[in-house]
Amino acid sequence: MVDKKLDSVRVRIAPSPTGEPHVGTAYVALFNWAFARKSGGKFILRIEDTDRSRSRPEYEAEILRSLRWLGLDWDEGPDIGGDCGPYRQSERLELYREHMERLLKAGEAYYCFCTPERLERMREERKGESFRGYDGHCRGLSEGQVRENLERNLPYVVRLRVPREGETAFEDMLRGRVCWRNEEIDDQVLLKSDGFPTYHLASVVDDHSMGITHVIRAEEWISSTPKHILLYRAFGWPVPKFCHLSLLRNRDRSKISKRRNPCSLHYYRKVGIFPQALLNFLGLQGYSMPQEQEIFSLEEFARDFDVSRIKTRSPVFDLEKLFHINGVYLRSMSRERLVEALLSYTRGWLEGALGLAQERMESLGDFFPLMAFLWQRELVGDFGAILPKRVSLEEARGVLGKALEAYGSCEWSVEGLRRVHGELAKALGLKKGKVFMTLRTALLGKLGTPPLEESLVLMDRFQVIQRLEGALGCLEKWDV
Ligand code: GLU
Repeated sequence: MVDKKLDSVRVRIAPSPTGEPHVGTAYVALFNWAFARKSGGKFILRIEDTDRSRSRPEYEAEILRSLRWLGLDWDEGPDIGGDCGPYRQSERLELYREHMERLLKAGEAYYCFCTPERLERMREERKGESFRGYDGHCRGLSEGQVRENLERNLPYVVRLRVPREGETAFEDMLRGRVCWRNEEIDDQVLLKSDGFPTYHLASVVDDHSMGITHVIRAEEWISSTPKHILLYRAFGWPVPKFCHLSLLRNRDRSKISKRRNPCSLHYYRKVGIFPQALLNFLGLQGYSMPQEQEIFSLEEFARDFDVSRIKTRSPVFDLEKLFHINGVYLRSMSRERLVEALLSYTRGWLEGALGLAQERMESLGDFFPLMAFLWQRELVGDFGAILPKRVSLEEARGVLGKALEAYGSCEWSVEGLRRVHGELAKALGLKKGKVFMTLRTALLGKLGTPPLEESLVLMDRFQVIQRLEGALGCLEKWDV
């Protein structure tokens, strides 16, 4: 690969395909996209799939599909290629290997043969100390010792030799000067024992070889930045500009989480949010438009895009605001376009929903009452009133509470949910029938419904969580 020396702006997003497409990816993509469009530069999509156990091709496909749905187009990427490809890290392993060799040769990196047990012990012993990174045990191994260990086929990682003295600083485009003392920076692993590069090595090698001029990414990566800067220096490369965007947050200011907010982009499609409205909302969350303009198109957003208008304070995710904005879009549409939108929205559902409904229908009209639960934004009915008498309020509370815990992180699939429901019955010592009755009435609004797990996976996780919370709240009313 030739190192590109490109003057014009090149930015990128680098999502990892390890789960459902995340709203944070859309948020970061929007700002990168606008920056590229405003400056006449290029917006690149790179897939960071070096986490072998968690990356899956179907997640990658969903990232691409969701970004396309949003209307954020990219100039280079795994699907359309480009001059700096391949754009999938798992196809660039040779490149990382060569670069790692280069660092080893220059003495900027070193082999580390410490076993996981030793590292565990080391961490244990240094509990409470401010710096709990690697203690440098293998930093001073002689060439002979290294050769011997390699010949003995001992497992190893490669670490960066971080200078012990001095500081590493950079000028963040939003936050100004950010500085670390080098003694606080860990000798980070560059190559894992499975032979795959870590995020740090792969990201720096790629950003450099793809000619990235501005790294615009989420704030959570800020602590990786000094390590990246040290890597650029170790290679003798120019350091790009960095801009760390504030994270979307829950109401208590923790990082946005599945339990408390819809993180998956699937949610927005499923509840019928328009992509333009979602981008408008995300823009508004992280950016102050001139004259406080609240409703704007993607083009308007990019036309005058100015980094100094990006908010530095983390926005609290405001779902009500999103629905409000979506309502503005919806009401401004012609009847004709709305009919089209509604048809294409329901078309997205029909296939899956009919798979469950068909054998329970006698007329077309039966479809809607049978599947109404799919479209309900929150709790379907007065849960307490429809809960069968055989299930006590105490039992219902137990089931809903446990389900709430599990739904936040379980695999969102028929098998995943089946497992959760089985474990739940066991943990509470309840018959499965009672568990199902409770969940059916709380989540689908009635007892006689299509199969529970199959119905739930047609919805988004967060939709279901919202209903669970509604049902738990409802129980309080029935308690007195
Ligand atoms: N793979 C990282 C992510 O999933 C990319 C971080 C970066 O932009 O450097 O967010």
